Amino acid sequence: MQVPPTDQTVSDENNSGVRRVITGLGASGGIVIGRAFVLDRQIVHVSRKPISQDAVQAECKRLHNGVAESIDQLKRLKSQSSSAESAASEELGFLMDAYIHMLTQSRLVRGAEELIVSRKLNAVHAVSEVIDAIAEQFSGMEDSYLAARATDIREVGLRLMRCLIGETDRAMDNAPQGSILIAEDVSPADMARFEPGQLTAFVTALGGAEGHTAIMARSLGIPAVLGAADIVRGVAGGDQIIIDGGRGEVILSPSDADIAHYTQRRADWLAAREKLASLRDVPSSTRDGIDIDLHANIELPIELAAALENGATGIGLLRSEFMFMNKDYLPDEDEQYEELADIVKRMDGKPVTIRTLDIGGEKLAVALQDEIVSGPNPALGLRGIRLSLRKPELLEAQFAAILRASLHGSVRVLLPMVVNVHEMTRARQIYEAVAKRLRKDGHPIPETLPPLGAMIEIPAAALAADTLARDSDFFAIGTNDLTQYTLAIDRTDDQVAGMFDPLHPAVLRLIRDVIKVARERDIPVSVCGEMAGDPRYVPLFIGFGLRNLSMSPVNLLLVKQRLRRLDSRNSEHQANRVMEQWDSARIAMMLDDFNDLA
Ligand code: PEP
Ligand code: MG
Repeated sequence: MQVPPTDQTVSDENNSGVRRVITGLGASGGIVIGRAFVLDRQIVHVSRKPISQDAVQAECKRLHNGVAESIDQLKRLKSQSSSAESAASEELGFLMDAYIHMLTQSRLVRGAEELIVSRKLNAVHAVSEVIDAIAEQFSGMEDSYLAARATDIREVGLRLMRCLIGETDRAMDNAPQGSILIAEDVSPADMARFEPGQLTAFVTALGGAEGHTAIMARSLGIPAVLGAADIVRGVAGGDQIIIDGGRGEVILSPSDADIAHYTQRRADWLAAREKLASLRDVPSSTRDGIDIDLHANIELPIELAAALENGATGIGLLRSEFMFMNKDYLPDEDEQYEELADIVKRMDGKPVTIRTLDIGGEKLAVALQDEIVSGPNPALGLRGIRLSLRKPELLEAQFAAILRASLHGSVRVLLPMVVNVHEMTRARQIYEAVAKRLRKDGHPIPETLPPLGAMIEIPAAALAADTLARDSDFFAIGTNDLTQYTLAIDRTDDQVAGMFDPLHPAVLRLIRDVIKVARERDIPVSVCGEMAGDPRYVPLFIGFGLRNLSMSPVNLLLVKQRLRRLDSRNSEHQANRVMEQWDSARIAMMLDDFNDLA
């Protein structure tokens, strides 16, 4: 096998044909050699629909939210580029400052606001008019430096308009089949729009490895590198590039030696996947005969096939957000019923745990945009069950759709972001009232309602799991948010991504204790965060007494392979030893040792 060159030539010129390695976060493993499709978000559809007098204030607020979001993006890009070691990064930093200045200096914002108030233009229309006017003035200037500022103001304006429009940006629909997508950012909603096979890999300048975009990439088995500064400027459409999603590397202008080396590595990766497939139908039990349920997390219906192919014995987490993404209306009960019933039927009696809407934070839905972008800190704001209880009609429609779909198989209902028992109790009242209404209206639903459970993903819920147990039929531990909130690390923020540490003793203690409470009270408990799909952690979970893990379909067989080599009593002993440690690096080493021994 040929060894790739190890020197990483750093070139400040774009697309110079000089070999260059850009590094980011390895968000989803796998190797792809292919052609880049650079996302050009230059086209924004501007609706010219006027607004009513009553809507003026809300539209101005929307404008300011959009400005704040644009500034935030620019700051993140600046900080991301400052960590890259190239001269271009300094220049990029200056440019971002200039853009931020244009947004705060605010002839643009003031002008748009005036148009919203005086001519009742919607915010996007108002911004587009102001941008046109300013750009025209600049481009008419004799001084070539000032004339070039027209391009900058258009760039800033487009960013602002995209923030205002949210998810309805369609630019990436044009990515040809088999592309490697290069973009500043890819949202979970963007991911939901790709056709199967459209993307073979993607690289973004922004984003953390624990966010939903990364989770979806892993679920779909698409290699991805996120948080790779400079990437958008470093690649041109059609360039040949190599992605190593596991290592978080992107190789631009690869040499022949690179191509040979990575072709071999890709073949090895595919062969390893193939080999694992033989485990599909073998039982998922430990060496000493303890059966472990291995369920799949599903973000999009398209993943169902992978879940079944990889031997999932149920769906442990169906993230219902997919039904709300890329729609500028809220799907009604019937529409939700159709989508859910289809999934339940396809699972053919295997359990399906449907989580109610967890929109908020990074997961946005256009139709709910006004409710959820208003908070200064979305991750701590109106999301999950809080939003559902604030808008009970939302929850009622979801419950009704789920209850009707439950007739086609075995269903459980899961509530996200629960923090106290009152939320459970209130949700249950709504649940039962909806069931009553359905029966009255002649809709067939099961006699015994499907179990209603709580996600344990906020430290308060974990610490008070015994109180939640009073009104929860089951628990699902969400280690992604549990880690985020315990460590105060935003899971989507590339700047602190390296500090996202699920092995922190505080996180592990919470997980261990929730499992203990659940077992003492005989409440089914699972782990459905990303940790569940990491084979290294299997001995720990088994040692804690966990018997149900739910994960991205791609990890099911890896985890099965791991647990079939374990002895549960031994794992318990190992877990106890781990819990005596205070340092997560040491814990990681211990787990590696246990895994080597098995
Ligand atoms: C979690 O927080 O661990 C979880 C499974 O939920 P999500 O990733 O959808 O927030
Ligand atoms: Mg969560």
